Amino acid sequence: MWDYHIHTKRCGHARGEMEQYVEEALKRGLRAMAFTDHVPMYFQRPDPSIAMAHEDLEKYVKDVLSLKERYPEIKILLGLEADYIPGKEEKLERMLEPYPWDYLLGSIHWIGDWGFDNPELISEYGNRDLVAIYREYYDLLKGAAASGLFDSLAHPDLIKKFGFRIAPDLEAALIREVLEVVSVNQVCLEASTAGWRYPANEQYPSKAFLKLAFEKGISVTLGSDAHAPEQVGLDFLRITGLLKEIGYKEVATFHRRMKKMEVLG
Ligand code: ZN
Ligand code: FE
Ligand code: FE
Ligand code: ZN
Repeated sequence: MWDYHIHTKRCGHARGEMEQYVEEALKRGLRAMAFTDHVPMYFQRPDPSIAMAHEDLEKYVKDVLSLKERYPEIKILLGLEADYIPGKEEKLERMLEPYPWDYLLGSIHWIGDWGFDNPELISEYGNRDLVAIYREYYDLLKGAAASGLFDSLAHPDLIKKFGFRIAPDLEAALIREVLEVVSVNQVCLEASTAGWRYPANEQYPSKAFLKLAFEKGISVTLGSDAHAPEQVGLDFLRITGLLKEIGYKEVATFHRRMKKMEVLG
C-alpha cells in the first residue's frame, strides 16, 4: 500500500512528530508514504492554523529528505499539497522550483476567499446556491487539472465534505467536464479515505465519480490525508476494495515526479 497524503504538525492543525507518522506506516506495512504538507499560503495572508510559514518550507524539505535516509526500509516521498489559485500559478511555481519534489498534490480548498472546507465557515453554504457552489468548485478543479502543476488532484469532490449534495445527474455532468480535462492533461485523481471521517461519510471521490474516471482510463493515487499518526493508511483495505470492485487493478506511484503504475495488492 502507498499512502500519498500525509501532513505534519507544521500546518498548525495536525499533531505528532514526523517520525511517528513513519513508524505508523511501518507498523501497517506500507511500501511507501508521501509527506504532503500544506503549501505556505502564497495566495493570501498567512494563517498559522492553516499552513506552515514561508520560511518553514526549506526546513520541511530538509526534514523529509533526512527521514528518507533514516528509514531506508520504507520509501518516503517528498511531496506537498498545494492549493490551486487561478492567476497565481507562477507564484506557486517559483516557490516550488528550488526543491526535489517526488509528488505534488493539487487541491481546491478556496472558492474566492471562502475556505469552504473550514468548519468555522460552514454557514456560508446557507448564503449561496448549492449548484452554483458545486459549479465553481469543479471549475476550479478543472483549472488545477489543466495547470500542469500537479501529479494528482487531492480529494476530488471535497465540496461534499459537510454532506451538502446536489442531484446526482447534475453533479455527473460537472464531473464529466472535469474528467475530460483530467484525461487530456494526464493527471491522476486521489482516492482518499478522509471523507469517511467527515459528515459526508463517504470516500473522496464518490463511487459514481470513480466509475466515470475508470471508464476514461484515469489513474488514481491513494491517500489518507492523515493529520495524526494513527490516521496513516487508515481504511486502506476499504478504499482498495472499492477500487477493485470498480475495475481498478493498478495505482499510480511517483518518484521525482515520474509516474509508475503498481499492481493493487
Ligand atoms: Zn490540513
Ligand atoms: Fe486538502
Ligand atoms: Fe491534506
Ligand atoms: Zn487535505
